Amino acid sequence: MDISTQEIERIVKSVVAGLSKETSANEFSTITSYTATESPPKRNIKGEWGVFEDVELAIEAAYKAQIDWVTHYKIYERQRVIENIRRIARQNIETWCHLIIEETQMGRYEDKLEKHLAVINSTPGPECLITEAMTGDSGLMLEEYAPFGVIAAITPTTNPTETIINNTISMIAGGNAVVFNVHPRAKKVCTLCLQTLNKAILEAGGPENLITMTREPSLENVDKLAASPQIRLMVGTGGMGMVNKLLHSGKKTIGAGAGNPPVIVDETADIELAASQIYKGASFDNNILCFAEKEVFVVSSHLQGFIYNMKKQGAYLIENHQIHTLLEKVFVLKTDGNYDVNKDWVGKDATCILESIGIYAPKECRLIICEVPANHPFVMVEQLMPILPIVRCENFEEAMQKAVLAEQGNRHTASIFSKDVNHMTQFARAIETTIYVKNSATMAGVGIGGEGHTTMTIAGPTGEGITCARSFTRRRRCMLAEGGLRIV
Ligand code: NAD
Repeated sequence: MDISTQEIERIVKSVVAGLSKETSANEFSTITSYTATESPPKRNIKGEWGVFEDVELAIEAAYKAQIDWVTHYKIYERQRVIENIRRIARQNIETWCHLIIEETQMGRYEDKLEKHLAVINSTPGPECLITEAMTGDSGLMLEEYAPFGVIAAITPTTNPTETIINNTISMIAGGNAVVFNVHPRAKKVCTLCLQTLNKAILEAGGPENLITMTREPSLENVDKLAASPQIRLMVGTGGMGMVNKLLHSGKKTIGAGAGNPPVIVDETADIELAASQIYKGASFDNNILCFAEKEVFVVSSHLQGFIYNMKKQGAYLIENHQIHTLLEKVFVLKTDGNYDVNKDWVGKDATCILESIGIYAPKECRLIICEVPANHPFVMVEQLMPILPIVRCENFEEAMQKAVLAEQGNRHTASIFSKDVNHMTQFARAIETTIYVKNSATMAGVGIGGEGHTTMTIAGPTGEGITCARSFTRRRRCMLAEGGLRIV
């Protein structure tokens, strides 16, 4: 290849200038690949607080950060970094919640604040990585939780920054770094959140680029993440299409997919309690949460009392002739004759949905209720809207059978209002959900108003359940023969 003296001079100058700024090997290769007449395209190789133009660069940066994180940082230093993430996130949640609503057009500001506080305060750090030890005649055995390395995390539009905060704390607590592929419809707020968390990590003395993302998230990037040898684990939080795709990627996957949580109200239930808890849960953030109550099966003896109490809470009951009009408005009829959700209405306020069909409810109304048969699309399709269908059932057995059908094998979340222990147990065994709540709103099952830690990644399909740092680690065993460290 012919190369002029000027060209050599230009390259040398570029290299020297680059080296003085601690230029990486990647930058060197971009400098040398252009001729003097071409100006290289702008490529932000160093990233902007974890945000990169190319997914390969995002992976590379996270890969380096993870090696640094696991080699040079002790557990107490991981704790210090995570505490700073919590502190800085707390300072920013009002801004993020306003931006989420602006960008996604879904949900309720005050509920988003509560969700953020739950993940910030109740996502465990490295303290949940408890070493197990066993000693005996044959020596000492230790099992410890080791990082995977770099994790690719796919996040949903319904809990965009909540999932980033929650996944970041859990995954870096386990010694990992993370490359996020966020939902394109929440990319602005996710970018801001990720950059802020990276600043918090750096401020607390942590490595740069411990969490990264691409400026433009895309499905192609998900494929590249799955194909990269530097990515050791895929974690998908979102709809079943995405989770199934990851499960077929050939890479170890933790999948947190869709739910359609049914609730049973049996003949022994305290219906005032049931109505207040179901109203709270089903209207929280306009029902965009995967674990929120989506349909209720009520025994006929309690139906009128239950509806009366739901209205007392503030729910708006639509009449039979209005149900089809509402269905046509918020759902779309597919060519196969089935209905699907019209995404324009996902996460909208109940009053706004009602207005669209000419009903003007009090502005405090947070939930629409209607009585429908068990096979109605409002029951069978995961709506993510504040519309709660109620199904009349002859008895508990019928309620249980219909609830299992409505849940459709997602094995995600279910609840029951009952004082009958046998009913509680029977339904738990039949429904097999990851989260099973008795006599409370289902969000109690992720630590919002209930005991236990919080997560925004409920891994039902792959079995990790209510994820925490432990879920994102590998168990490793160390065996020391008898005569080593035993003291008895
Ligand atoms: P979604 O499936 O549309 O998107 C989720 C993520 O997957 C996004 O980042 C999106 O870009 C990506 N994605 C979508 N299709 C993909 C494909 N074919 N290949 C690769 N990536 C793809 O979901 P959403 O609307 O953002 O979120 C709502 C859904 O997520 C609901 O079904 C809800 O139940 C579920 N969800 C589950 C959990 C859980 O913990 N189990 C938590 C939140 C949301």
